[in-house]
Amino acid sequence: MVTLQLDRELRIIFDKKAVFLDSSSSSDIACITHAHLDHWGGASGLVMMTDETFHILRARKVRINNHITSNYGEAVAPLENIRISSMNSGHMLGSCLFKIDTPSEEIVYTGDLNTVETILEKPAEAVEAKDLLIEATYGAPLYKFGPRECIYAQITKWIVRTLKDGFIPCFKVYTAGKAQEIIAIVNNLLNVDVILSPDVYKVSLVYKKTYPWMSFESINSINTNEIIRNGEFVYVTASMSARVFTPRRTKWAIATGWAVSTPFPQFDAAFPLSSHADFKGLVDYVEAVSPERVITTYGHSITFAKFLRNLGYKALALEEKQRVQL
Ligand SMILES: [Zn+2]
Repeated sequence: MVTLQLDRELRIIFDKKAVFLDSSSSSDIACITHAHLDHWGGASGLVMMTDETFHILRARKVRINNHITSNYGEAVAPLENIRISSMNSGHMLGSCLFKIDTPSEEIVYTGDLNTVETILEKPAEAVEAKDLLIEATYGAPLYKFGPRECIYAQITKWIVRTLKDGFIPCFKVYTAGKAQEIIAIVNNLLNVDVILSPDVYKVSLVYKKTYPWMSFESINSINTNEIIRNGEFVYVTASMSARVFTPRRTKWAIATGWAVSTPFPQFDAAFPLSSHADFKGLVDYVEAVSPERVITTYGHSITFAKFLRNLGYKALALEEKQRVQL
């Protein structure tokens, strides 16, 4: 018998062994889907992740005691009768979804996933499975992001106009993933330098191993002095506290899927650039996997499960049940 449990940490329990999913574990094994810190959980036992996730977490000063690498398409058997494979989830560099096979069940856990191609990442792979445990961050119909190219066009237009008006365009975004997507947009679509806060710079150096064409400088580098004097650059940081360019004027933008539903009055611009699938992306992903049962979790999980039930799926939100026997 296999049990899914969310009461303290998300985990699959099989034959008294636990596979922790993006949550902390001091025993058995924890599968970490990507290098966002809310998915790390501080695991002190054996951890499974891709090589890229490992290096990004290390760049973010996360201490990892004991890990095994699982790259896309590879399967490992870290516990008796449990085989775990990883595939691309499209969310950020190195992000993966896990397929967990036991003698009686096959479960796909998506972690955070994105179903559209971005300037850096391929869309999530649809992996056939009997049970699908899917994130539902934007699992409500109002979350519709539109074509990626249009959002990129809005961002580049804003940067050009901001520079023309004599301001420095500054982005406050996630240190890992979103920051590098902004860098890639500027590198590919504009002829403007990019300067990064030190934390974003460290993670971007890991990205540069996969994308050697990426071009950026750290705010702490001596190379940036002249760029800052010229005033023609984009600044990317995870924190608005670093208003480093006074007396030169700045304008601030945020890039997040929540821009669809939430006003951000403290920013000059808000772009609905998300590393997650929107509502339609989630529905399309479920249809592509075509599972016997769907368990939704995170964000709008209850709304999303209800919508899937109306489509005829056997679906429930883990947040409603906390414990599900498969
Ligand atoms: Zn994430």
